[in-house]
Amino acid sequence: MTDRNVDVCSIFIHGKWVTAETERTEAVYNPSDGNIIARTPMCGSQEVDMAVRSAQAALPDWSETPVVERARLMFRYVHLLEKHFEELSQLVTREHGKTLEESRGSVRRGIEVVEFACGAPSMLMGDSMEQIASGIDCDTIRQPVGVCAGITPFNFPAMVPMWMYPIALVCGNTFIFKPSEKVPLTAIRLIELLAEAGLPEGVLNLVHGGVDVVNGLCTHPGIDAVSFVGSSPVAHHVYQTATAHGKRVQAAGGAKNYMVILPDADPEFTVDAIIQSAYGCAGERCMAGSIAVVVEKAANRVLPDLKEALDEMKVGPTDRDPSVDLGPVVSQQHLDKVQSYIESGIAAGAELYRDGRHVHVPETPHGFYMGPTIFDQTHSGMQIIQEEIFGPVLSVIRTDDLAAAIETCNGSGFGNAAVLFTNDGKAARTFKHQVSAGMIGINVGVPAPMAFFPFSGWNGSFFGDLHVQGKEGFYFYTRQKVTISRWA
Ligand code: NAD
Repeated sequence: MTDRNVDVCSIFIHGKWVTAETERTEAVYNPSDGNIIARTPMCGSQEVDMAVRSAQAALPDWSETPVVERARLMFRYVHLLEKHFEELSQLVTREHGKTLEESRGSVRRGIEVVEFACGAPSMLMGDSMEQIASGIDCDTIRQPVGVCAGITPFNFPAMVPMWMYPIALVCGNTFIFKPSEKVPLTAIRLIELLAEAGLPEGVLNLVHGGVDVVNGLCTHPGIDAVSFVGSSPVAHHVYQTATAHGKRVQAAGGAKNYMVILPDADPEFTVDAIIQSAYGCAGERCMAGSIAVVVEKAANRVLPDLKEALDEMKVGPTDRDPSVDLGPVVSQQHLDKVQSYIESGIAAGAELYRDGRHVHVPETPHGFYMGPTIFDQTHSGMQIIQEEIFGPVLSVIRTDDLAAAIETCNGSGFGNAAVLFTNDGKAARTFKHQVSAGMIGINVGVPAPMAFFPFSGWNGSFFGDLHVQGKEGFYFYTRQKVTISRWA
């Protein structure tokens, strides 16, 4: 672990990169080798105030800027993001640890939101109807909400922020962005490119930090709306605090996503999909399939093949070895937490069918590695089933039939994704209809919607009314005005 010549990240206020006032910093790691690569300033109310003042000052001009001009900023931004696509992907891998292929996929998904934002002139159109009564017409228009804030998690350093500010800005709002303190470098590069695309001063400000900044944003009277993505306890806290302070809030939380495997599912395809879903991005994904509910004999067909495939997986440093299949988790602290869940599963009587602890990566021995792990013979009462582990760990629950499998899924307090593997259309329809989750995969292991559909978490995975992305994204960042006119 080295800490020499490591830069403290700057904040972006009113079009300038400046040093934060605070002297408190936290280390940013390269999870592949455990080295410190930067330090995040842990800002407080002073920096939040500066950002809010800047965003408020920029709001009148920006909200009056014609929508086609706001959209043009996004067209130029897309061009720059494409130009720097590889650099951004490498940065995500460097500070997060996911494989370069996974980083590329996530940056691509983020760019798709910016492309979607370019369609703002169509998306912001209202409705109108003449002659709703004699000589009276009615129409609706959409206007910006005001100053919006976006608070993001560590696991998708590019994609999740891009769910928020491109749509917020193109709708005419100004924005304050607070990235995760664990991954500030991608955020900085994203905003440098936005500035290069012609972002006017103050339209987006970036502050770094953790709890203090989040609480400052949720309570500041100058902020009108808060978008949050992170773990469920913090999402709930943000939702409660910010709504209590009169703000519009969308707060996406954590998840436990169930994958149901029926005996008629194609074993080879299903094993591949489970590997992608449970172990992709080292399991640090709110859409990770972390529980496999296997019906009848499906377990005997799938589990041995799955274990064999996992034995072939290469665990190692994603920043220097393109042949690595499974990268490190984000930090030593997170690795300890994941491993404590393994202890909890063993203590509760689950069968550790594949133990991913004790992986040895000789080239980078200080990286935060955890190999692919499987628990068999688990049940809904166990902590490893109830809580989000957020690591490369799959738990297997065995059930008798589809009805019991759906009941198991619906016992979860979360509700992001639920997935079914089958060749039976009727079973698929029943599952889609009855399962209590907002994003359903039928023979799709990670049913993450594209930019033009909402990222539609339910239950304890989402707090609020309007989700990120899709039409709901535009609705969240605008207020409707209805006008009834009579010209005598
Ligand atoms: P986290 O909740 O720890 O942090 C998220 C943000 O909240 C960060 O910016 C952090 O600085 C801030 N924060 C942390 N603790 C806080 C506190 N006590 N009070 C106020 N602010 C606080 O989440 P994380 O570990 O960075 O990210 C992983 C989590 O995000 C997982 O639970 C994952 O499922 C979830 N996630 C959800 C989605 C979704 O769409 N539902 C998408 C990506 C990630």
